[in-house]
Amino acid sequence: KGDLMAGKRGLVMGVANQNSIAWGIAQQLAAQGAEMAFTYQGEALERRVRPLIESIGMDTMISADVTNDDEMDAAFATLKEKYGKLDFVVHAIAYAGKDELKGSMVHNTTREGFARAMDISVFSFIDVCRRASEMMEEGGSIINLTYLGSERVIPSYNVMGVAKAGLEAATRYAARDMGKQGVRVNAISAGPMRTLALMGIKGSKTLMSAGRDMSLLGEDTKMEGVAGAALYLLSPIGASITGEVLHVDAGFHVVGVPEPSEE
Ligand code: NAD
Repeated sequence: KGDLMAGKRGLVMGVANQNSIAWGIAQQLAAQGAEMAFTYQGEALERRVRPLIESIGMDTMISADVTNDDEMDAAFATLKEKYGKLDFVVHAIAYAGKDELKGSMVHNTTREGFARAMDISVFSFIDVCRRASEMMEEGGSIINLTYLGSERVIPSYNVMGVAKAGLEAATRYAARDMGKQGVRVNAISAGPMRTLALMGIKGSKTLMSAGRDMSLLGEDTKMEGVAGAALYLLSPIGASITGEVLHVDAGFHVVGVPEPSEE
C-alpha cells in the first residue's frame, strides 16, 4: 500500500474477469490510492466484473463497446459528469477473430476481419485518446497493452501483430499530439499471460512455454511486474517518459537464439 496515485482519477478499460491484465493493473492502482471508473464490453460481462470492482471499493461501471460511438459518447459524458477532469487511462482492449488467430496470416485474414481487428485494437485507442484529452487539460498519463508480435513473427498471432504495430505507432503519435498539454502516452509490451485473450490464439500453450523457457529470467511474466510498470508510467514517478514501449516479459524480447539444451 502507498499513495503514489492519491487524488488521481482515471478510467480503466478492458476488465473481463479476474485474469484480465486490466484487473491486475486496477488492483495495484487502487492500493496506491487511485479512484477509477471502469468500462466493460456489454451487459453480459457486468455480473462477472461488478464483484471485482466492488472488492476494491469502486462502483462506477459503464457498459461501452468501443465499436459503438453512441456508447462511447455516453461513457465519456458519464465520466465528465462524475469526475470533471481525468488523470489517467488504461486501455487494455484487443480483438481478432478466432479464424485469424491460427494458421497463416496470408491465407486467413479477410478484409472484414482485418478492419475489425484494427478498429477494436487500434482505432479505439486513438478515439479514447481524443476523448480523454478534453478532460486532461492539466496533463495526465495514458497507457495501452501491446505484445512482441508487433516486432517479431509469432505463430498464429497474424493480424494481431499488424494491429499491435499500429497500436505502438499510434502511441507515439498520440504522445506527440498530447505532449504539449502535459499528457504522457506509453505502451506496455507484456509477455504471454494466461487470459481470455491469450486463450483465443491457437498454440497459446507454446507461446506461454516459449515465453518462459527462452526468457532471460526463465519464468512466466508476472502480473505484479505488468501492474508495477503501469503504476510507474501512470504515476508521477514516470515523469518525462512518453512515446515509449516498455517491455515487461522476463527479458524474452532481447533473446536471439535460445540457449542450447546440451552441447
Ligand atoms: P482479456 O480477454 O481479459 O481482455 C481483453 C478485453 O478486451 C476484454 O475485457 C474484452 O471485453 C475487451 N474487448 C474486446 N473487444 C471489445 C470491444 N469491442 N469493446 C470493448 N471492449 C472490448 O485479455 P488480456 O490479455 O487482459 O488483454 C488486455 C490487453 O492486453 C489486450 O490489448 C491484449 O492484446 C494485451 N496483451 C495481452 C497479453 C497476454 O498474453 N494476455 C500480452 C500482451 C498484451
